[in-house]
Order: sequence, then C-alpha cells, then structure tokens
Amino acid sequence: MCTPSLISRKTFLKAGLALAASPLLRYVPAHAAAAQVTEVAPGVFVHQGRYEVQSPDNRGDIANASFVVGSEAVAVIDTSGSAVMGEELRDAIRTVTNKPIKYVINTHMHPDHVLGNAAFKQDDPIFVGHYKLPRALGTRADSYVTANRQMLGAEAFAGSEIILPTLAIKEPTKLDLGDRELLLEPQSTAHTDNDLIVTDTKTDTLFLGDLLFSVHVPTIDGSIKGWLGLLEAIGNRKAARVVPGHGPKSMKLPEALEPEQRYLAAIADDVRRQIAEGKTLAEATKTAGFSEKDAWKLFDQYHVRNVTAAFAELEWE
Ligand SMILES: [Zn+2]
Repeated sequence: MCTPSLISRKTFLKAGLALAASPLLRYVPAHAAAAQVTEVAPGVFVHQGRYEVQSPDNRGDIANASFVVGSEAVAVIDTSGSAVMGEELRDAIRTVTNKPIKYVINTHMHPDHVLGNAAFKQDDPIFVGHYKLPRALGTRADSYVTANRQMLGAEAFAGSEIILPTLAIKEPTKLDLGDRELLLEPQSTAHTDNDLIVTDTKTDTLFLGDLLFSVHVPTIDGSIKGWLGLLEAIGNRKAARVVPGHGPKSMKLPEALEPEQRYLAAIADDVRRQIAEGKTLAEATKTAGFSEKDAWKLFDQYHVRNVTAAFAELEWE
C-alpha cells in the first residue's frame, strides 16, 4: 500500500482528469497502484488473486482477473472483488494500452469476479455474461452487497456495486477486438448456472472462470454432476493454456483439471455411498471427501458447504 497522502494525491489527480474529460464528476475509490499483471500469451494479461477469503486487507483481491488487447479494443474478463481492485486492474490496462475498453465480460455471478465492474463504467463498455447471469445476479444483488460490504469494510468496498450484463450470451458468440476474436460459450449448470467459457482464438487461451479451481478448494454453487460432466468435456479439448478463476495465471490441459476432478469425485462417491447406507446429511458433513483435506487451501471454509450442496443434489438421483 502507498502512504495515505500518496493515495489521496493520486485520487485527486484522477478525479481532476475525469472531471476534465467529462462534465460529470466521477467517484474514484482510493486505490494504491496498478494491479500486478502477467502477459501469459501475446496480448493476454492475467492478474492472480490471493488464496484468501475477502477481507479489508485483501480488498477483495481473491480471484483471477484478465484482459485481452486487440488492435482496436480491449476486453476485460472478470473484474475482481471490489471497485477499488477494479480501478487497479484498469490502471494496469492503461499501463499497457490506451485502446478503448469495449467489453467487460463476467465468467459467472460470484462477487469476487463481478464487484470490480463499477470501475469500468467510465469506459461505457458493453457488459457481457451468460444469459442466466442477469437473473442470478439480480436476485442475489442485495445479499452479495451486504455480505461483501461487511467482509471488506467500508473503505475497500467503496464504489462497488452490482452491474448486470447488457449483452446476454445464449449461443456461442464471437466478439471482435480487431485482429483477434473472443469466443464466448455459455455452459449448462456446473460451478453455477451461469458459467461462461471465453476463448481467445488467436492464442488458443481458454478462460475457464471458476469451472477451474487450483490450490483454492472448489466451491459448488450449481451442480456437482453437471460440473464433473463438463470437466470431462473440457479435458477433451485442445488448448495452448487455460486460465483458472482461482489458481496460477496459466495452466495446461488436461493436468490442470485433475485435482479438481478428483476432489469433486471424492465428494460424489462418498455422498452416494452414505445416502445408500441411510446416513444423514449431518453424518456426511463429518466424513465425505475428507481424504482431500490436505490437498487444498481454504478447505475448512468451504468443504462442508460443498458436501451439503452435493448431498441435496444426489439425494434425489
Ligand atoms: Zn465462483
């Protein structure tokens, strides 16, 4: 972090610039510096989030956020978990290119991927998501805002808001950035009911959002069966690299998927067996999938919830 005086000076300067460019005074949350990004392929940049739960200290910087630079425009793929972090991502984009930010794409509804959207309103981009994203985010907006304001604290949450997509993707769709295209493919229910896979066809880079967790334990908010099925299909694809929603900046198929497949299969196998044996949910949450305990960060925070979700789904098979 910078010293407070540096932050306020930078905020003042940015506010002044925004005022000069626009008749409307724009609110710019205080932020420290440009987010750290790595160019994982030509024109493809990834910022890696921390393996943590949202806190005032990490300011919602817990998920990967990326951008792709074409000859005419830039597309952002996920915006991190606060407007403050979104501003830092935007600063990182501006250290690389002055091309217009035409698209802001969200891979799914979770706050750590969408709450930075507000930082890009000044660019007047097209906000893009799965066709089920508007409804999913709309019904959860109040609870997401309340929970994240509480976890981040007022300062880190400042300026954050839920912004719904204006372009809803129902069929595979291409977006032109000039000299390169992004392919957007809506998926059926897996991590959530609104997962979107984005492919930069020029470099054969797949942005999987939270269909892929690495190191950070996966979280189930859709369908464990749907997710396992989709992972098998993704494993059969060819790609130069994949970018996970949580994990390293760049990984290879099919190895990248294997720990997550093993984790989800362990839960599904244990829960199915326990249901067949007449065990209760309470019993399942004490044992199912615990062979995976040492393989993941944040296991204690999310695993029992995953077993609970899996049990509710598999009970009715
Ligand atoms: Zn997620």
